Amino acid sequence: MEIERLYPLPNPDSQPYWDGLRDRRLMLQQCADCGTIRHYPRPVCDQCYSMEVDWTEASRRGTVHSWSVSHHAFHPSFKADLPTTFVTVDLEENVRLVGILRDPEVTLSIGMPVQVGFEDAADGAFSIPVLFAA
Ligand SMILES: [Zn+2]
Repeated sequence: MEIERLYPLPNPDSQPYWDGLRDRRLMLQQCADCGTIRHYPRPVCDQCYSMEVDWTEASRRGTVHSWSVSHHAFHPSFKADLPTTFVTVDLEENVRLVGILRDPEVTLSIGMPVQVGFEDAADGAFSIPVLFAA
């Protein structure tokens, strides 16, 4: 029996982020009042509490903040992907992003340069951020 995979459910705050990934662009929210960039997508700026938002395209460059290798699937449909390495990246835009490492030969280290890539999922309905050594 094939188990259906779980995918994110976009909302009005996150839809431009998911649309950007599908178009091979990493889009980040930027407060329209104070200019602070934030990630993950959310309705309110945590610096000035403005609800006015713009979107800006990120460089896709960053460095490794930390990582975790998962040997246990959080959902049965992901068992075939194990082990999975989740990397938290400090993007050049001064926000953090979590992505799956898709560079199996690499030996990770804190501060190592990485680049965000894109991977289609759900028959192209979604793309997710994935990471490679830069
Ligand atoms: Zn703001």
